[in-house]
Amino acid sequence: MRRLAPLLLCLVTLLLAGCAIYPAGQSNPRQPGGIGLVLIDPGHGGDDRGGAGHGLREKDMTLDTARRLREELASLGIRSQMTREADRSMMLDERVALANAKAGSGVVLVSLHYDSGPRSQSGVISFFWRTDSHGLATRIHRSLVEETGFEDRRVVRRRLRLTRNPDVPCVLIECGFLTNPSNASKIAQPEFRQRIARSIAKGIALQQQIGDRGIPPVPELNEPLSQASDRREY
Ligand SMILES: [Zn+2]
Repeated sequence: MRRLAPLLLCLVTLLLAGCAIYPAGQSNPRQPGGIGLVLIDPGHGGDDRGGAGHGLREKDMTLDTARRLREELASLGIRSQMTREADRSMMLDERVALANAKAGSGVVLVSLHYDSGPRSQSGVISFFWRTDSHGLATRIHRSLVEETGFEDRRVVRRRLRLTRNPDVPCVLIECGFLTNPSNASKIAQPEFRQRIARSIAKGIALQQQIGDRGIPPVPELNEPLSQASDRREY
């Protein structure tokens, strides 16, 4: 019995840890173990090419990176699904509805994009709106900047369709500029896109591990839902 006790303790601890990784109900990524499912959203698709530069189309790069992210999350034991698995059109509201439909699974939505702009503009920018998504956006962003060496364009609180409208925690990550020669030459390499995916997965895993620890809270803001007529679309 004396030998069994530590073994039982280990088993109970493992069981409890397992439960913490996949909680039922609403997700709360601010707490350790608060992410039950990552809904990976490859931006654009089908008729909507998104941005483009140096022979790279955003819709292809996001889908490729999303598949790699799914792999990386699986290797870390984090459950994920994708909003689209193929090159098909998908409205923003459809993506929001998909995330909302999974609200009971502890879902967080991670939308992947690549940026376009003047040639000289480069780097990573990460958007969030909800107070419960600030930590997740920050962890993903820091990891991505560190692993890619891309310019840090900061974590930005912005009311977008995919940051304001979901009823679940959500972030939108711009993983680099297709229009910047230096960013694009790296994004074009499959190994580099794997590195991007790995760094995003690492950010999510850290958030799962320690929640919002060390991340300053942001105030609640009351703003209307984002509309199709809003200035910039994602
Ligand atoms: Zn985009």
